[in-house]
Amino acid sequence: MLTSGMVSPQKCCRFITIAAVIATAGMKGFAFQQTQTPPSILDRLNERIAGGKSAWSDEQLHTMERLRDRAMASDYAYEELRHLTNNIGPRLSGSPQAQKAVEWVAEEMRKTGAEVTLEKAKVPHWVRGTETGELTDWPGRAARTTQKIVLTALGGSVATATEGITAEVVVVDNWKELHALPAGAVKGKILLFNHPFDKELAATGHGLEAYGGSVVYRGAGPIAGATDGAAAVLVRSAGGGDYRSPHTGMTEYAQGVTKIAAAAVTAEDAELLKALTREGRVMMHLTLTPQTLPDADSYNVIADWKGTEHPEQVVVVSGHLDSWDLGTGAIDDGAGVAVSMATLELMKELSIHPKRTVRMIAWMSEEEGSEGAAQYMKDHAAEMRNHVGALESDLGADHPTGIYYAGKADLGRWLRPVTQVLDGIGAASLVNAPETGEDIAGMTEKGVPSFAPIQDSRFYFNYHHTAADTFDKIEKKHLNENAAIMAVLGYALADAP
Ligand SMILES: [Zn+2]
Repeated sequence: MLTSGMVSPQKCCRFITIAAVIATAGMKGFAFQQTQTPPSILDRLNERIAGGKSAWSDEQLHTMERLRDRAMASDYAYEELRHLTNNIGPRLSGSPQAQKAVEWVAEEMRKTGAEVTLEKAKVPHWVRGTETGELTDWPGRAARTTQKIVLTALGGSVATATEGITAEVVVVDNWKELHALPAGAVKGKILLFNHPFDKELAATGHGLEAYGGSVVYRGAGPIAGATDGAAAVLVRSAGGGDYRSPHTGMTEYAQGVTKIAAAAVTAEDAELLKALTREGRVMMHLTLTPQTLPDADSYNVIADWKGTEHPEQVVVVSGHLDSWDLGTGAIDDGAGVAVSMATLELMKELSIHPKRTVRMIAWMSEEEGSEGAAQYMKDHAAEMRNHVGALESDLGADHPTGIYYAGKADLGRWLRPVTQVLDGIGAASLVNAPETGEDIAGMTEKGVPSFAPIQDSRFYFNYHHTAADTFDKIEKKHLNENAAIMAVLGYALADAP
């Protein structure tokens, strides 16, 4: 069972585990170990003197340059993403749009000549209902008025009574403040966790760490609130936008703890509630009517660009196809799927056939628990030794500065020739990270070297899980840079000696 100091192992966005680790350890700063960015001339000279040789031939390195340049000139990723978001739309796990997206990605991948398989997975099927909040009493209220609170239900939330509940609001900024309250202080009340997203940290490029500091309240808040007898839980949105736009995302319940309704309020409304409750009693009417339907049948889309020498050996390039329902899932994570699809398209266009199979995977249900990835790990358990590498792009589509890699430090050294190719698009960094993506975390655990583009995260969490996660947020040049990383690194791993 969860106590206030703990964080939940919830899965709701890529890197949440890292986020949880950072939050648990109380670290706010950068948690990764930065290695060569890019290698200095001195390192390169030393390596030559020591007889260090590239694992790839000049011809292979030239192929990587061709992939990079073609990716930058291509319309493919951008146009695929446009269709996925504008035409198919939001892709909540279990929804008709998610099913349509599965069929569409499969059809698009067949056009490249790849061998396409749909692999079945049971996924959650949660649907959003009515979601309204209004203050019915507060200090200084004009007679017969209410005041609107902008909020959205958290993924997986149970419903309030159909007609809503009315209760007093109690505001705490963190777990410590919750535990400092007298016994019974939140019983029967609506408890708000008003933990601000650290915008200054995000502004320095550490959006993920800022998210990590906030998202633990979204994940574990309802359990902590219910444990103390709260009637419902609100959390301040885990994101940096100042447009009074709430951020949804998955929440968690624990066995043996009452499930209570949970919603995210905007940062502005969290501040309002804090200010008013300081002055006196604040009453709120809250109505949430989401439903959890029986688990649905869905699919991971798998497209294999068959290897010429070792077709049984696989390099995974991937993103997740499901999205939240408020926006159209452009940055999270239609972009990751589009750049993975582009990897196969670019190989087709340039007639590149590496030794090993490059496997595009569009994962299902990452947002609601990575059920698709869990099913893949079950179905392919016996083949893990043949998985030579796994990539996932799930931190948006802004300019990438390089590659996160999980694995031994030697891996970074080995990859240097590849990053020299990526230096041409400003993406030569190599950063060792404990994890690289939620859907490929199972493979990382099994010892498969795993990778992710290091996307600029300064603005990602302004739009993440909001109604503003839409196609217009995509900069074509940046999207193509991400496609270049996926294609170059995917090829490098698939054709390495
Ligand atoms: Zn995502």
